[in-house]
Amino acid sequence: MKITMEEAAKKLMAAQRVLITAHVNPDGDAVGASLGLAALLREKGKTATVVLDDKLPRNLAFLPGYDEIRRPDGTPPDVDLLVVLDADPDRVGDALKGISGVPLLNIDHHITNKQTADFYYIENRAATAEMIYDIAEHLASSFPKAMALALYTGLSGDTGSFRFSNTRPSTFRAAARLLEAGAEPHVVSENFEVKPLSVFEGQVAALRTLEMTSGGRVAGLYLDQELTAKLESSEGFIDMIRVIEGVEAAVLIRALEPARCRVSIRSKGLDVTRVATKFGGGGHVRAAGCTLEMPLAEAKRAIQTALDELLASS
Ligand code: 5GP
Ligand code: MN
Repeated sequence: MKITMEEAAKKLMAAQRVLITAHVNPDGDAVGASLGLAALLREKGKTATVVLDDKLPRNLAFLPGYDEIRRPDGTPPDVDLLVVLDADPDRVGDALKGISGVPLLNIDHHITNKQTADFYYIENRAATAEMIYDIAEHLASSFPKAMALALYTGLSGDTGSFRFSNTRPSTFRAAARLLEAGAEPHVVSENFEVKPLSVFEGQVAALRTLEMTSGGRVAGLYLDQELTAKLESSEGFIDMIRVIEGVEAAVLIRALEPARCRVSIRSKGLDVTRVATKFGGGGHVRAAGCTLEMPLAEAKRAIQTALDELLASS
């Protein structure tokens, strides 16, 4: 059932013990929105547990509460509300496995959300963190510093540090209030941008795979399994090629297994969800992703064909 922000806030306040989760391969918004909501609920005297079923980005370890994030361990916690953030409920891995009979609230800013949750509050916003901010403001509570840092990190992450087209006046208003509540932009960026030397070196190797196709309208990086396995993270790689003059779509394909590839796509206005949803993925108009059960060369051809169709129809 579709609900409003006010109704979502009410559901949260009516609960006592809340399990919060978000998508696998968690990013700044998934972790930031989760820890931000957990801090808000704790401020309201509730028990909040964050469960994420994946490796957490180490560069988010500065966020208060990061160390208490749990992996699903087969023993479902005793809760009266489940909250899925920043994704459809089917993209959380095993985080909700074994739990039944507990209502599920889905808060997400993805336009491709399938709207299947018991209760869903979905809006086309910069970040899920911005939606959690709205709830915090609506509840007119004092803003704990832990919440401010986490939500600011989510906002900053999903807007490319307030540079992408999803950045709105409401995003800056939220950011301003979060700064007043103790978030420090330099602390967030200095931690968030840190990468181990191995990842930096991997970035150099990844850039060597650059291929320009579609007459220069598509730029792509194609990482084989060996390079992918060596990399702890490929965060930001795609942003480096997005800026090449004349590029309308940037692609990053990483081979995870002999016949399994992760695909990230970015654009400057082309609706790349049309490519991602074709392969069972999703995302936003200018940033989408999917997983292809194919070897790298085949995945590359499939995505190239879909992008050529998109370019031809735009
Ligand atoms: P990224 O390229 O950074 O992994 O993802 C870009 C955007 O697309 C993010 O908002 C992400 O949540 C979304 N996305 C990436 N992969 C998938 C997927 O397999 N399914 C869905 N529904 N969304 C995805
Ligand atoms: Mn997000």
